[in-house]
Amino acid sequence: MLKVLLHEMSWTEAKEYFKYNDIAIIPVGSNEQHGPQNPLGTDHLIAEAIAQETAKRTKTLCLQVIPFGVSSHHKQLWGTIYISARTFKTYVKEVCLSLSYYGITKIVIVNGHGGNRCALVEMARELRERKVFATVFQWWEAANKLLPGLFKPEERGHAAAEETSVNLALHPQIVDMNKAVDEEPRKHALQATGITLPLDTVDYTFSGVFGKSTTASAEKGKKVFEVAVKELVEHVNSLKKAKIENLVQRSKV
Ligand SMILES: [Zn+2]
Repeated sequence: MLKVLLHEMSWTEAKEYFKYNDIAIIPVGSNEQHGPQNPLGTDHLIAEAIAQETAKRTKTLCLQVIPFGVSSHHKQLWGTIYISARTFKTYVKEVCLSLSYYGITKIVIVNGHGGNRCALVEMARELRERKVFATVFQWWEAANKLLPGLFKPEERGHAAAEETSVNLALHPQIVDMNKAVDEEPRKHALQATGITLPLDTVDYTFSGVFGKSTTASAEKGKKVFEVAVKELVEHVNSLKKAKIENLVQRSKV
């Protein structure tokens, strides 16, 4: 059976893959509070599962998940491990550049944590300058678009029903639904239209849940997982076909 997980390959097997392929998948996430019912690893565990399943279905190399991300805004709730956006960007970028040494020019980052997004987009722009084309996939954005009626808006927040459902589908043994809560995020006194405030999770909620989490179900989580993997498989397959010269081309004007 063809191996797709880098850490399970020997160097000779990796060499075979790099000889014939120019694409790889890297899951990234965070280790941060997800309410009293979900594991701290929620974001990196979900990213890892989506990335590995996609890798198997498309026979694409998948790296180990990078578990720590840009999460300082969750730190007042215990167990959150956070690194700066700059450190995160540099770390992921250097992993990508290691791959480019072996001829990988197309990279799909499967991101499990919204707080990582800005750093990843900035990194992808920098990599393009180095002739590496990296794309960023976020499962909840895909689910929101492709399964609009599956959850109510208040079930789609951080640690709410949608995220909890995916956890229940993937690893129910580490979710404790007896501890699930519903909490409407508080409004800060300075909140106004067009204003961004540098707030932390504790400024909004006591439990760490943004919205309604008690309606989570494994069945709904499976639907989200399947739709995310399906969308990502299509993306990986079209990226495989694309020519790198066209992805990193310079202006023809
Ligand atoms: Zn999360």
